[in-house]
Amino acid sequence: MTGISAMSRFFSSKFKGLEPYTPGEQPKDTSYVKLNTNESPFPPLKAVTDAAASCRPLNLYSDPTCSDLIAKLAEVYKISPDRIIPSNGSDETLYFAFLAFCDSGHPAVFPDITYGFYPVFAQITNTPYTEIPLKEDMTIDINDYIGINKNIFIANPNAPTGICLTTGEIEQIVKSNPSNVVVIDEAYVDFGGESALPLVEKYDNLLVVRTFSKSRSLAGARLGFSFGSPGLINDLNTIRFSTNPYNINSMTLAAGIASLENEDYTIENCNTIIKNREYTTDKLRSLGFEILPSCANFIFAKHAGLDGGWLYAELKRRGVLVRHFTKERICQYNRITIGSMDQMNVLISELEDILKER
Ligand SMILES: *Cc1c(COP(=O)(O)O)cnc(C)c1O
Repeated sequence: MTGISAMSRFFSSKFKGLEPYTPGEQPKDTSYVKLNTNESPFPPLKAVTDAAASCRPLNLYSDPTCSDLIAKLAEVYKISPDRIIPSNGSDETLYFAFLAFCDSGHPAVFPDITYGFYPVFAQITNTPYTEIPLKEDMTIDINDYIGINKNIFIANPNAPTGICLTTGEIEQIVKSNPSNVVVIDEAYVDFGGESALPLVEKYDNLLVVRTFSKSRSLAGARLGFSFGSPGLINDLNTIRFSTNPYNINSMTLAAGIASLENEDYTIENCNTIIKNREYTTDKLRSLGFEILPSCANFIFAKHAGLDGGWLYAELKRRGVLVRHFTKERICQYNRITIGSMDQMNVLISELEDILKER
Protein backbone atom coordinates (compact mmCIF):
# COMPACT_ATOMS: atom_id res chain seq x y z
CA MET A 1 0.00 0.00 0.00
CA THR A 2 1.18 3.50 -0.70
CA GLY A 3 1.31 5.15 2.69
CA ILE A 4 1.24 8.84 3.49
CA SER A 5 5.04 8.99 3.29
CA ALA A 6 4.98 7.95 -0.36
CA MET A 7 2.65 10.77 -1.38
CA SER A 8 3.91 12.89 -4.27
CA ARG A 9 3.74 16.66 -4.19
CA PHE A 10 1.04 16.46 -6.87
CA PHE A 11 -1.52 14.55 -4.78
CA SER A 12 -4.67 16.61 -4.32
CA SER A 13 -4.95 18.03 -0.83
CA LYS A 14 -8.55 16.86 -0.73
CA PHE A 15 -7.26 13.29 -0.33
CA LYS A 16 -4.51 14.00 2.18
CA GLY A 17 -6.28 12.38 5.11
CA LEU A 18 -7.74 9.50 3.09
CA GLU A 19 -7.08 6.11 4.66
CA PRO A 20 -7.49 3.46 1.96
CA TYR A 21 -9.30 0.19 2.57
CA THR A 22 -6.95 -2.65 3.49
CA PRO A 23 -7.81 -5.76 1.47
CA GLY A 24 -7.09 -9.21 2.87
CA GLU A 25 -3.76 -10.77 1.95
CA GLN A 26 -3.59 -12.51 -1.43
CA PRO A 27 -0.29 -14.39 -1.12
CA LYS A 28 1.32 -15.73 -4.29
CA ASP A 29 2.38 -18.71 -2.21
CA THR A 30 -0.59 -21.03 -2.77
CA SER A 31 0.35 -23.50 -0.04
CA TYR A 32 -1.78 -21.66 2.53
CA VAL A 33 -5.14 -22.93 3.60
CA LYS A 34 -6.69 -19.64 2.63
CA LEU A 35 -9.55 -18.69 4.95
CA ASN A 36 -9.07 -14.91 5.02
CA THR A 37 -11.12 -13.24 2.28
CA ASN A 38 -14.43 -15.13 2.16
CA GLU A 39 -13.88 -16.50 -1.32
CA SER A 40 -15.57 -19.73 -2.38
CA PRO A 41 -13.40 -22.86 -2.09
CA PHE A 42 -15.26 -24.24 -5.13
CA PRO A 43 -14.10 -23.21 -8.60
CA PRO A 44 -16.68 -21.90 -11.06
CA LEU A 45 -18.21 -24.51 -13.38
CA LYS A 46 -16.40 -25.31 -16.62
CA ALA A 47 -19.43 -23.88 -18.45
CA VAL A 48 -18.65 -20.55 -16.77
CA THR A 49 -14.92 -20.43 -17.49
CA ASP A 50 -15.56 -21.70 -21.04
CA ALA A 51 -18.10 -18.93 -21.62
CA ALA A 52 -15.53 -16.35 -20.50
CA ALA A 53 -12.70 -17.89 -22.54
CA SER A 54 -14.68 -18.19 -25.77
CA CYS A 55 -16.22 -14.75 -25.53
CA ARG A 56 -15.85 -12.76 -28.77
CA PRO A 57 -15.11 -10.22 -30.11
CA LEU A 58 -12.58 -8.83 -27.64
CA ASN A 59 -11.44 -6.14 -30.08
CA LEU A 60 -14.79 -4.47 -29.55
CA TYR A 61 -15.94 -2.79 -26.36
CA SER A 62 -18.16 -4.67 -23.95
CA ASP A 63 -21.90 -3.97 -24.04
CA PRO A 64 -22.39 -0.79 -21.95
CA THR A 65 -26.07 -1.63 -21.40
CA CYS A 66 -25.24 -5.16 -20.15
CA SER A 67 -28.64 -6.10 -21.52
CA ASP A 68 -28.11 -9.88 -21.73
CA LEU A 69 -26.87 -10.09 -18.15
CA ILE A 70 -29.68 -7.85 -16.92
CA ALA A 71 -32.28 -9.95 -18.76
CA LYS A 72 -30.91 -13.09 -17.13
CA LEU A 73 -30.85 -11.47 -13.67
CA ALA A 74 -34.44 -10.28 -14.21
CA GLU A 75 -35.50 -13.84 -15.04
CA VAL A 76 -33.68 -15.50 -12.13
CA TYR A 77 -34.68 -12.92 -9.50
CA LYS A 78 -38.18 -12.27 -10.95
CA ILE A 79 -37.89 -8.50 -11.06
CA SER A 80 -38.13 -6.03 -13.92
CA PRO A 81 -34.92 -5.09 -15.78
CA ASP A 82 -35.27 -1.37 -15.03
CA ARG A 83 -34.75 -2.20 -11.35
CA ILE A 84 -31.32 -3.79 -11.91
CA ILE A 85 -27.82 -2.37 -12.31
CA PRO A 86 -24.70 -4.53 -12.65
CA SER A 87 -21.28 -3.36 -11.49
CA ASN A 88 -17.58 -4.15 -11.47
CA GLY A 89 -17.79 -5.93 -8.14
CA SER A 90 -20.41 -4.75 -5.68
CA ASP A 91 -17.82 -2.42 -4.14
CA GLU A 92 -18.30 -0.24 -7.21
CA THR A 93 -22.04 0.15 -6.65
CA LEU A 94 -21.42 0.94 -2.99
CA TYR A 95 -19.02 3.66 -4.09
CA PHE A 96 -21.49 4.90 -6.71
CA ALA A 97 -24.21 5.02 -4.05
CA PHE A 98 -22.04 7.32 -1.92
CA LEU A 99 -21.29 9.45 -5.00
CA ALA A 100 -24.92 9.61 -6.09
CA PHE A 101 -26.78 10.04 -2.81
CA CYS A 102 -24.39 11.39 -0.17
CA ASP A 103 -22.82 14.81 0.36
CA SER A 104 -22.38 17.36 3.13
CA GLY A 105 -26.15 17.87 3.31
CA HIS A 106 -26.91 14.13 3.09
CA PRO A 107 -24.73 12.39 5.67
CA ALA A 108 -24.33 8.65 6.03
CA VAL A 109 -24.70 6.30 8.95
CA PHE A 110 -23.57 2.71 9.51
CA PRO A 111 -22.53 0.47 12.41
CA ASP A 112 -19.12 0.90 14.09
CA ILE A 113 -18.32 -2.71 13.27
CA THR A 114 -19.11 -3.40 9.61
CA TYR A 115 -17.58 -3.54 6.15
CA GLY A 116 -14.39 -1.44 6.17
CA PHE A 117 -15.15 0.17 2.83
CA TYR A 118 -18.09 2.30 4.07
CA PRO A 119 -15.95 4.84 5.99
CA VAL A 120 -13.47 4.95 3.09
CA PHE A 121 -16.22 5.72 0.56
CA ALA A 122 -17.63 8.32 2.95
CA GLN A 123 -14.21 9.97 3.19
CA ILE A 124 -13.45 9.95 -0.54
CA THR A 125 -16.86 11.48 -1.32
CA ASN A 126 -16.54 14.02 1.48
CA THR A 127 -19.61 12.65 3.22
CA PRO A 128 -20.02 13.30 6.94
CA TYR A 129 -20.73 9.98 8.63
CA THR A 130 -21.73 8.53 11.97
CA GLU A 131 -20.77 5.08 13.20
CA ILE A 132 -23.37 3.63 15.56
CA PRO A 133 -21.97 1.08 18.02
CA LEU A 134 -23.31 -2.44 17.77
CA LYS A 135 -24.87 -3.69 20.99
CA GLU A 136 -22.68 -5.57 23.48
CA ASP A 137 -23.66 -8.86 21.82
CA MET A 138 -22.51 -7.51 18.43
CA THR A 139 -26.04 -7.24 17.03
CA ILE A 140 -27.50 -4.17 15.34
CA ASP A 141 -30.16 -2.38 17.39
CA ILE A 142 -32.64 -1.38 14.69
CA ASN A 143 -34.07 1.30 16.99
CA ASP A 144 -30.84 3.23 16.41
CA TYR A 145 -31.82 3.57 12.73
CA ILE A 146 -35.58 4.17 12.96
CA GLY A 147 -36.29 7.65 11.59
CA ILE A 148 -32.61 8.64 11.77
CA ASN A 149 -32.99 10.74 8.60
CA LYS A 150 -29.56 9.93 7.14
CA ASN A 151 -28.52 7.64 4.31
CA ILE A 152 -28.08 4.21 5.85
CA PHE A 153 -25.57 1.51 4.88
CA ILE A 154 -26.10 -1.90 6.45
CA ALA A 155 -24.43 -5.16 5.51
CA ASN A 156 -26.93 -7.97 6.05
CA PRO A 157 -25.61 -10.42 7.15
CA ASN A 158 -23.21 -7.99 8.79
CA ALA A 159 -19.46 -8.37 8.31
CA PRO A 160 -17.33 -9.43 10.05
CA THR A 161 -19.88 -10.63 12.63
CA GLY A 162 -22.02 -12.80 10.32
CA ILE A 163 -25.14 -11.81 12.26
CA CYS A 164 -28.29 -11.05 10.24
CA LEU A 165 -31.41 -8.95 10.58
CA THR A 166 -34.82 -10.18 9.42
CA THR A 167 -36.59 -8.67 6.42
CA GLY A 168 -39.18 -7.32 8.87
CA GLU A 169 -36.48 -5.41 10.73
CA ILE A 170 -35.02 -4.05 7.48
CA GLU A 171 -38.51 -2.95 6.45
CA GLN A 172 -38.95 -0.92 9.64
CA ILE A 173 -35.70 0.91 8.92
CA VAL A 174 -36.58 1.55 5.26
CA LYS A 175 -40.15 2.62 6.02
CA SER A 176 -39.11 5.08 8.75
CA ASN A 177 -36.58 6.91 6.57
CA PRO A 178 -38.58 7.74 3.44
CA SER A 179 -36.43 10.80 2.62
CA ASN A 180 -33.19 8.83 2.67
CA VAL A 181 -31.63 5.98 0.78
CA VAL A 182 -31.18 2.71 2.66
CA VAL A 183 -28.49 0.50 1.15
CA ILE A 184 -28.60 -3.15 2.18
CA ASP A 185 -25.37 -4.91 1.25
CA GLU A 186 -26.27 -8.57 0.80
CA ALA A 187 -22.83 -9.91 -0.16
CA TYR A 188 -23.42 -12.94 2.10
CA VAL A 189 -27.19 -13.38 1.94
CA ASP A 190 -27.04 -16.66 -0.01
CA PHE A 191 -25.58 -18.47 3.00
CA GLY A 192 -28.74 -18.38 5.10
CA GLY A 193 -29.79 -14.72 5.48
CA GLU A 194 -33.12 -13.19 4.51
CA SER A 195 -33.07 -10.95 1.45
CA ALA A 196 -34.72 -7.53 1.34
CA LEU A 197 -35.35 -8.05 -2.39
CA PRO A 198 -39.15 -8.48 -1.87
CA LEU A 199 -39.24 -4.93 -0.44
CA VAL A 200 -37.71 -3.31 -3.50
CA GLU A 201 -41.01 -2.95 -5.34
CA LYS A 202 -42.66 -1.46 -2.26
CA TYR A 203 -40.12 1.23 -1.26
CA ASP A 204 -38.43 3.64 -3.66
CA ASN A 205 -35.63 4.41 -1.17
CA LEU A 206 -34.21 0.86 -0.89
CA LEU A 207 -31.14 -0.37 -2.73
CA VAL A 208 -30.20 -4.05 -2.36
CA VAL A 209 -26.60 -4.80 -3.33
CA ARG A 210 -25.42 -8.28 -4.33
CA THR A 211 -22.24 -9.88 -5.66
CA PHE A 212 -20.98 -12.87 -7.65
CA SER A 213 -17.82 -12.87 -5.49
CA LYS A 214 -18.88 -15.10 -2.60
CA SER A 215 -21.67 -17.59 -3.33
CA ARG A 216 -21.02 -17.69 -7.09
CA SER A 217 -17.28 -18.43 -6.99
CA LEU A 218 -16.40 -15.43 -9.18
CA ALA A 219 -14.45 -13.07 -6.89
CA GLY A 220 -11.74 -12.68 -9.52
CA ALA A 221 -14.20 -11.82 -12.29
CA ARG A 222 -15.43 -8.72 -10.40
CA LEU A 223 -19.19 -8.74 -10.86
CA GLY A 224 -21.90 -7.24 -8.70
CA PHE A 225 -25.56 -6.37 -9.23
CA SER A 226 -28.08 -4.28 -7.37
CA PHE A 227 -31.85 -3.95 -7.16
CA GLY A 228 -33.73 -0.72 -6.53
CA SER A 229 -36.44 1.59 -7.77
CA PRO A 230 -36.08 2.69 -11.41
CA GLY A 231 -35.17 6.17 -10.10
CA LEU A 232 -32.30 4.94 -7.92
CA ILE A 233 -31.06 2.70 -10.75
CA ASN A 234 -31.20 5.64 -13.15
CA ASP A 235 -29.13 7.80 -10.77
CA LEU A 236 -26.51 5.08 -10.38
CA ASN A 237 -26.38 4.73 -14.17
CA THR A 238 -25.75 8.46 -14.45
CA ILE A 239 -22.69 7.98 -12.26
CA ARG A 240 -21.68 4.84 -14.16
CA PHE A 241 -21.90 6.50 -17.58
CA SER A 242 -20.02 9.50 -16.20
CA THR A 243 -17.10 7.40 -15.02
CA ASN A 244 -16.73 4.14 -16.97
CA PRO A 245 -19.57 2.94 -19.22
CA TYR A 246 -17.61 -0.24 -20.04
CA ASN A 247 -17.11 -1.04 -16.38
CA ILE A 248 -17.93 -4.72 -16.87
CA ASN A 249 -15.73 -6.51 -19.37
CA SER A 250 -17.10 -8.92 -21.97
CA MET A 251 -15.54 -12.01 -20.37
CA THR A 252 -17.10 -11.24 -17.03
CA LEU A 253 -20.50 -10.58 -18.63
CA ALA A 254 -20.32 -14.01 -20.30
CA ALA A 255 -19.23 -15.70 -17.08
CA GLY A 256 -22.04 -14.06 -15.11
CA ILE A 257 -24.70 -15.18 -17.57
CA ALA A 258 -23.35 -18.75 -17.55
CA SER A 259 -23.37 -18.76 -13.76
CA LEU A 260 -27.02 -17.71 -13.73
CA GLU A 261 -27.82 -20.53 -16.17
CA ASN A 262 -26.53 -23.00 -13.57
CA GLU A 263 -28.36 -22.05 -10.39
CA ASP A 264 -28.25 -25.63 -9.06
CA TYR A 265 -24.48 -25.47 -8.69
CA THR A 266 -24.62 -22.25 -6.66
CA ILE A 267 -27.38 -23.58 -4.43
CA GLU A 268 -25.52 -26.85 -3.85
CA ASN A 269 -22.29 -25.01 -2.94
CA CYS A 270 -24.12 -22.70 -0.53
CA ASN A 271 -25.69 -25.70 1.18
CA THR A 272 -22.26 -27.32 1.53
CA ILE A 273 -20.83 -24.14 3.07
CA ILE A 274 -23.74 -23.92 5.53
CA LYS A 275 -23.18 -27.56 6.53
CA ASN A 276 -19.41 -26.97 6.91
CA ARG A 277 -20.10 -23.82 8.93
CA GLU A 278 -22.27 -25.70 11.41
CA TYR A 279 -19.67 -28.49 11.67
CA THR A 280 -16.80 -26.02 12.23
CA THR A 281 -18.80 -23.95 14.72
CA ASP A 282 -19.57 -27.05 16.82
CA LYS A 283 -15.96 -28.22 16.75
CA LEU A 284 -14.52 -24.81 17.68
CA ARG A 285 -17.07 -24.30 20.45
CA SER A 286 -16.04 -27.64 21.90
CA LEU A 287 -12.45 -26.32 21.91
CA GLY A 288 -13.58 -23.35 23.99
CA PHE A 289 -14.06 -20.76 21.25
CA GLU A 290 -16.84 -18.22 21.48
CA ILE A 291 -18.48 -17.89 18.06
CA LEU A 292 -21.09 -15.37 17.00
CA PRO A 293 -24.16 -16.88 15.30
CA SER A 294 -23.33 -16.64 11.59
CA CYS A 295 -25.57 -16.57 8.50
CA ALA A 296 -22.53 -16.03 6.26
CA ASN A 297 -19.66 -18.02 4.74
CA PHE A 298 -17.41 -17.08 7.64
CA ILE A 299 -17.43 -17.22 11.43
CA PHE A 300 -16.16 -14.65 13.90
CA ALA A 301 -14.38 -16.46 16.72
CA LYS A 302 -12.45 -15.68 19.88
CA HIS A 303 -10.96 -17.75 22.69
CA ALA A 304 -10.58 -16.52 26.26
CA GLY A 305 -7.13 -18.13 26.50
CA LEU A 306 -5.69 -16.93 23.18
CA ASP A 307 -4.93 -13.36 22.12
CA GLY A 308 -6.59 -12.64 18.76
CA GLY A 309 -3.53 -11.13 17.08
CA TRP A 310 -1.27 -13.86 18.39
CA LEU A 311 -3.62 -16.59 17.14
CA TYR A 312 -3.74 -15.03 13.68
CA ALA A 313 0.09 -15.04 13.49
CA GLU A 314 0.39 -18.56 14.89
CA LEU A 315 -2.13 -19.96 12.41
CA LYS A 316 -0.30 -18.19 9.59
CA ARG A 317 3.00 -19.71 10.74
CA ARG A 318 1.27 -23.08 10.48
CA GLY A 319 -0.02 -22.36 6.98
CA VAL A 320 -3.60 -21.31 7.78
CA LEU A 321 -4.52 -17.78 6.79
CA VAL A 322 -7.45 -16.10 8.59
CA ARG A 323 -8.41 -12.43 8.93
CA HIS A 324 -7.60 -10.38 12.00
CA PHE A 325 -8.76 -6.79 12.55
CA THR A 326 -6.87 -4.47 14.88
CA LYS A 327 -9.88 -2.30 15.77
CA GLU A 328 -10.01 -2.41 19.54
CA ARG A 329 -13.53 -3.70 19.94
CA ILE A 330 -12.89 -6.78 17.81
CA CYS A 331 -9.15 -7.37 18.14
CA GLN A 332 -9.63 -10.53 20.18
CA TYR A 333 -11.57 -12.12 17.31
CA ASN A 334 -10.51 -13.71 14.05
CA ARG A 335 -12.74 -13.98 11.02
CA ILE A 336 -12.49 -17.43 9.52
CA THR A 337 -13.83 -18.16 6.04
CA ILE A 338 -15.75 -21.41 5.74
CA GLY A 339 -14.07 -23.55 3.11
CA SER A 340 -14.17 -27.18 2.07
CA MET A 341 -14.40 -29.94 4.67
CA ASP A 342 -10.70 -30.71 4.11
CA GLN A 343 -9.75 -27.10 4.80
CA MET A 344 -11.93 -27.03 7.92
CA ASN A 345 -10.31 -30.19 9.22
CA VAL A 346 -6.83 -28.69 8.78
CA LEU A 347 -7.97 -25.59 10.69
CA ILE A 348 -9.50 -27.66 13.48
CA SER A 349 -6.45 -29.88 13.88
CA GLU A 350 -4.09 -26.88 13.97
CA LEU A 351 -6.27 -25.25 16.62
CA GLU A 352 -6.26 -28.47 18.64
CA ASP A 353 -2.44 -28.52 18.46
CA ILE A 354 -2.16 -24.87 19.43
CA LEU A 355 -4.41 -25.39 22.47
CA LYS A 356 -2.49 -28.53 23.50
CA GLU A 357 0.89 -26.78 23.28
CA ARG A 358 -0.23 -23.69 25.08
C1 LIG B 1 -16.98 -9.10 -0.16
C2 LIG B 1 -17.91 -7.98 0.20
C3 LIG B 1 -18.41 -7.11 -0.76
C4 LIG B 1 -18.04 -7.11 -2.14
O1 LIG B 1 -17.29 -7.44 -2.85
P1 LIG B 1 -17.12 -7.41 -4.42
O2 LIG B 1 -16.13 -8.46 -4.62
O3 LIG B 1 -16.66 -6.03 -4.75
O4 LIG B 1 -18.46 -7.71 -5.00
C5 LIG B 1 -19.34 -6.16 -0.40
N1 LIG B 1 -19.75 -6.05 0.87
C6 LIG B 1 -19.28 -6.85 1.82
C7 LIG B 1 -19.78 -6.68 3.21
C8 LIG B 1 -18.33 -7.83 1.52
O5 LIG B 1 -17.83 -8.58 2.48
